[in-house]
Order: sequence, then structure tokens, then C-alpha cells
Amino acid sequence: MFDRLPPARTDSLMQLGLLMQADPRADKIDLGVGTYRDERGAIPIMAAVKTAEQTILNTQTSKGYVGPAGDREFALRLQDATFPGLEAAAAGRLAWIQTPGGTGALRLALQLIAQANPGAHVWIGTPTWPAHLPLIEAVGLKAQTYSHLDADGAANVEALNATLAQAQSGDVVLLHGCCHNPTGADLSLDAWREAAMVAANRGLTPLIDLAYPGLGDGVEEDVAGVRALLDVCETALVALSCSKSFGLYRDRAGMLMMLSGSVATAANLGQTAAGQARLLWSNPPDHGAAVVKAVLSSPELTHQWRAELDAMRVRVNAVRARLSGIPLQRLDLSRLSQQRGMFALLPLSGDQVLALRERHAVYVDASGRINVAGLNDSNFARFAAGLADVDLA
Ligand code: PLP
Repeated sequence: MFDRLPPARTDSLMQLGLLMQADPRADKIDLGVGTYRDERGAIPIMAAVKTAEQTILNTQTSKGYVGPAGDREFALRLQDATFPGLEAAAAGRLAWIQTPGGTGALRLALQLIAQANPGAHVWIGTPTWPAHLPLIEAVGLKAQTYSHLDADGAANVEALNATLAQAQSGDVVLLHGCCHNPTGADLSLDAWREAAMVAANRGLTPLIDLAYPGLGDGVEEDVAGVRALLDVCETALVALSCSKSFGLYRDRAGMLMMLSGSVATAANLGQTAAGQARLLWSNPPDHGAAVVKAVLSSPELTHQWRAELDAMRVRVNAVRARLSGIPLQRLDLSRLSQQRGMFALLPLSGDQVLALRERHAVYVDASGRINVAGLNDSNFARFAAGLADVDLA
């Protein structure tokens, strides 16, 4: 039977990882997979997370199911830490469900959209995170794309506005909440406010992928645009991941926040989401969410987590500033210091990506995307020298 399967779609980052593993050079530089790395190149466990894990280990008395909707206290604490005092929440128009990471939240959001309006188009600026388009197609929805970047490497607000003007009522607009992956080009708060008004007036549903809160300019600043949107739209979905901001990648913690026009619709939406989750993963994994809940239930651990997240952001932005100052003849990296988050899309040709890998053991995705956090004091000069070399190729 399975010999009839079409060839599997290949993932360029996974292929890059395999090539890197097979490379015997000790000084190779991994700028591929999107995990935060500290100054030593490690993917750290946050100290607040470690303490919370120890508490859980000492006090947990059961491994019973948490239920398809997940842990209510986790969701409320995470919502409050991310969007404190949200009016729609007080009005009872917000439903939530705990999900396996941000990917689980996105998949479930799209599933709900497909169930409610199978004819909806999902508008998405490209380039985007490679999983977005397959996720949309996996639930049978149609994606429509527009160009996310303008000629100067900033978010293409004109293209977004033109998209919002042409989308039909009931359509969905998928936006990155902050720290756009792969471009780092975020919308200004004014652009968010304008988009929010148009989406609200035209009956569009924003679907926000919020995977990097705290890694741009600070949690409040990073979610300000999403907040503006939640304040004016009747309907919106936010897929919130704890993978990056709590460093919980493999523990799969996240949630889907669902905004609707009335208390009754919100209640039904929450129950429908739980029913869909039952068919996808039954119950969400508990450990990562329990850690987030433990951190956010303790003022001391919350304070420590925020300080650690601040330090991660400061490091990422310092590397961005340093990258933008590399003297190059042709490649223009000046935009990088204005962009935000862990990713930057370098304007490299396929040949330049190959030359970086073969001549300098620098591993960059075929698209030119780099994980800025993969750079540190000990490899930066070598990376800059590699860029200077391929710049002239
Ligand atoms: N959305 C974006 C833009 C991402 O970059 C990622 C992870 O890389 C995710 C969502 C999914 O994160 P998670 O690991 O929580 O599923």
C-alpha cells in the first residue's frame, strides 16, 4: 500500500541538519534550526524553568489526563502574562485551549476555520515560516499569498492593505504577531491598528501566529499590535507558543486563544475546539504547560523568567546590530538592526549559501535565512570573514 505514496515533501532545514552532522570540521557554525542559543552556543534550560520542574517533580501526585481542553489555570496565567487585563476576556468573549506547542494551536485554529467556513481563503504574506502553507492545505483550505517584504526589507504594509481590501468577508488573514520568521520585518503599531480596523470592518478573521513574544522589544511591546487587534475585532484566533519564550521546545506547550462576538459563541467555540482536539491528540501533553503554570504562579519565578527572557532578547538584538555593521561590498545588511527576532533573511544566492557551507563550514538555510542566535563572540569573526569572501563571488 505505502509504495503508492507520493514522494515525501523534503524539509530544507532537516536536510541542512543532516549535512551538518556529517561534516567532520570541528569549527562548523550552525545557523539553521530556530532555537535560541546562548553565548556559549548551548540551547539553555532557563533557571526559572529548572526550579519549576524541580517543584513539579517533588509535588506532582498524579499523571491522570488533563482533559482535551487542558489546564484552565495554565491558560489563564499565560493569557494574563501575555495580554493582561484584556477587555474581551472580562466580557467572556474569549475561549482558550491548551495545545501541543504553537504548531498544535495553528493546526487546530485552521481546523476550526475549515469546519466553520470551508470556502474561506487564508491570506498570508510570503516568505513565511515553511509550515504555514502545508498546515493550511492539510485542512483543505486554500491559501492566497502576497509579498510580505518591500524593496527596502521592511514589512510591505501596502501589500497587506491591498490584501485586506480584496479579501472577502469570512476570509482569514494569517499574521506573525512579532519577530517575523524568516524576515524579522514586523508591522509598526500604526500598521497593526490600521489592519485591525479594516479586518474588523470587513468581517475578516485574523489568525495570529505568536511564537516569539519577548524576543523583539519586550513582551508588552511585542504583543501591542495583536492587542490592538483583539480590542477591535469581533473574531480572531491567536496561536501562542511557549517553545521559544520559555525554552520548552520539546515539551510542546502552547495555547489557542479564540475571540468571538458573544459569550454563547465563545462557549461553543471552546467546546468545539476541545472536540476537535480529542480527534487530533486527545489530551495535550502536561509537563511544559505545568512548568509555565508554576513559573507564572510564583512572583519570584515570574520575575526570574522575565529577566532571563530580557537577557535573551538583549543578546539577540546585540548580534543583529553587530551583523548590520559588517563591512561588505555588495551585500547590504543595514536593515538587520531595525528588524526583530531570531531570524534574518540574508540576500544570498544559492551559490553563496553553498560556498559558505563548503569553504567556511557555515550552515545557512537555502533561503538565506539565518538564526541570529547561532552567532557568538567565538564564531562571529569567522562568519563575517565567510560573508566577505562570498560577497565578492
Ligand atoms: N510559528 C512560527 C513562526 C515558528 O517559527 C514556530 C517554530 O519555529 C512555530 C510557529 C511553532 O512552534 P512550536 O514549536 O511551539 O510548535
